[in-house]
Amino acid sequence: MAAQGRGAFAEARALSVSRRQALFGGLCLCCLPTLGRSAEACGLDEVGPGIFVRRGPDAEATPENNDAIANIGFIVGDDSVLVTESGGSLADGQWLRGEIAKRTTKPVSHVVLTHVHPDHCFGAAAFAADKPVFIGHNALRPALDARGAYYRARLVEILGADKAGSVVYPTLEVKPEGAEIDLGGRRLSFAAHGAAHTSCDLSMRDLKTGILFPADLLFVTRIPSLDGSLLGWLKEAEALKATGATQAVPGHGPTLVDLAPALADLTRYLTTLRDETRKALGSDVPIEKAVATIGRSERDRWVLFDTYHGRNITQAFKELEWE
Ligand SMILES: [Zn+2]
Ligand SMILES: [Zn+2]
Repeated sequence: MAAQGRGAFAEARALSVSRRQALFGGLCLCCLPTLGRSAEACGLDEVGPGIFVRRGPDAEATPENNDAIANIGFIVGDDSVLVTESGGSLADGQWLRGEIAKRTTKPVSHVVLTHVHPDHCFGAAAFAADKPVFIGHNALRPALDARGAYYRARLVEILGADKAGSVVYPTLEVKPEGAEIDLGGRRLSFAAHGAAHTSCDLSMRDLKTGILFPADLLFVTRIPSLDGSLLGWLKEAEALKATGATQAVPGHGPTLVDLAPALADLTRYLTTLRDETRKALGSDVPIEKAVATIGRSERDRWVLFDTYHGRNITQAFKELEWE
């Protein structure tokens, strides 16, 4: 029994280590064969008129890739430019700023901070000289207070202080009723979601093309990373569906996807996680055993399944055990 106890302890400790790693990286890090590909090697796709998106390579943050692993880009209006995601580091943000300058002389008026995860918001510092409005969920500030310094320290370890970037706070905080801005002949609407992928997920819609920007509320190909609320995410997935949008730029994956099938994949994963976790809890299966059984049918459907699925189960257990 003692040996079993130690084993359980070791497993619990491993889970806690992976949770800590995941707090930084699990969020959005992928490690496919493109590991080490530099941001500069990645081009921008024009996914709609005046909408440019770079696909984040499926890699972990490394010194070589500058944590440039999320889908980032910009939208050009008649008067000014909005940055859809700032990038994973100062270096990534600087790269994006350079790409904008190659395509337009219009000023950057807005930078969107879609949520607290570092691969999405540490590029913001690169735009400080533009004095843009930094748009974020009204729960982003406390999330950055809680984690920003830790994320920055981890980025400095990986990239060095020169490239890491700094914590940038939103100057326009979107409340539950939403917000709208105009880039000149181009309006964009914002929705502040309830806890889902994280506690502070902001989505955006380009009203000119109808394209939805759900950020990490939508993972494609890469396994979704649960850092907010499982039940909440299922609810917000319905809200994304209810927008009626047909195309979306996901936080990770291809630069433009059909929304319905992508949401169907996401909700299938989350629903399986919910139902099988409830079943394990109902049968008093300990989490150490549940990790080996819950959601196995999803294993071949997602990149990085083995790396992050266990953490998602841990999160699901914590959320559902008191139901
Ligand atoms: Zn994320
Ligand atoms: Zn991400």
